[in-house]
Amino acid sequence: MKPIRAGILGATGAVGQQFIQLLEGNPWFQITALAASDRSVGAPYHKACNWRLPGDCPAPVRELVVQPCEPGLDCDIVFSALPGSIAGPIEERMAAAGYGVLSNASSHRMDSDVPLLIPEVNPDHLRLIPIQRVNRGWDKGFIVTDPNCATAGLTVALKPLHDAFGIRRVLVTTMQAVSGAGYPGVPALDSLDNVIPYISEEEEKMTREPRKLLGTFSEEARSIVLANMAISPSCNRVAARDGHLEAVSIELERKASREQVIAVLRSFQSLPFKLGCPSAVEPTIIVRDEPDRPQTFLDRDAGRGMAVTVGRVRPCEVLDFKFIVLSHNTIRGAAGGAILNAELMIAQQIVPARSMRVVD
Ligand code: NAP
Repeated sequence: MKPIRAGILGATGAVGQQFIQLLEGNPWFQITALAASDRSVGAPYHKACNWRLPGDCPAPVRELVVQPCEPGLDCDIVFSALPGSIAGPIEERMAAAGYGVLSNASSHRMDSDVPLLIPEVNPDHLRLIPIQRVNRGWDKGFIVTDPNCATAGLTVALKPLHDAFGIRRVLVTTMQAVSGAGYPGVPALDSLDNVIPYISEEEEKMTREPRKLLGTFSEEARSIVLANMAISPSCNRVAARDGHLEAVSIELERKASREQVIAVLRSFQSLPFKLGCPSAVEPTIIVRDEPDRPQTFLDRDAGRGMAVTVGRVRPCEVLDFKFIVLSHNTIRGAAGGAILNAELMIAQQIVPARSMRVVD
């Protein structure tokens, strides 16, 4: 198939740059439009953007002129890396104008007719798309969101355990990288040699989003019935550049041995990998046996940043089991996750590639 024409909203930010780097190597997409704030509009991308990823700003986008985040962009789908404070109405205008919107922003994640999607976890939640189109009077456009970056890694690890044993309660303490705050993000004097035990709105997102992701689509309610579990997060910003590490304890509905827990995590299968999605990896969950892994620096890039690494699986003195989860926040938890959402929709012909304009 010919590549699909993709635009990026918020292209100059931390997640926007990650989109550019990942899409550059992806055979299913071609970047044809970049958009950001008034500060950047009208400038060639390489001048508007302070490129912060290893290597140079990719040649094909260097001279693309940054445009406003409004309909009229020369593309068929847009990946949104806009701040949650402004993304909502912009994404709605884009979807109403016929664009497929794959969003990282929090604005629409909990809307009852918007899929909050991790392709390996809840692909059937895409059944909300026809409902969304009817509700909102959209013909071709749609909005699909991916979860908060710390939620993404946690929920991938919880999914097989919830399916096998049922999860009643989750305690999670996060150690989140500074890149999670965007660019320029947390000032150096606040983050170096320090741990900040607060990230605005993060705990609220981690309390609600996994319950929607692990919930079930109800034909009757025409929405997602939230998973019946309690989640208590404590979120901390630590002086790592990328990678969110999380210490997790879970209580199960049905008792299991440590060996069964590990076997279930290791046997987790990826639907998007089976469907040939370029961003999917197998295994999606890597279980490490060493007593001191995963570590942020050593393991965040596992599976090209799309794998979730779990280690230190052991009995919990308070609940049933505890373990460590690590995932890359700007790849699995942001740009890579949104790209995989688009790939799943194409692979499942929910958005048939042929219905989109493709690059000649
Ligand atoms: P960021 O580095 O601050 O980038 C923000 C982007 O939005 C920039 O391109 C900026 O353009 C643009 N922008 C800001 N105000 C705008 C406006 N009024 N109109 C149009 N464009 C505007 O933030 P980020 O970390 O990339 O995060 C982007 C989104 O992804 C947020 O919703 C965030 O919560 C979410 N997210 C981030 C992560 C992560 O790990 N960083 C993970 C998951 C989800 P200018 O450069 O022109 O100002």
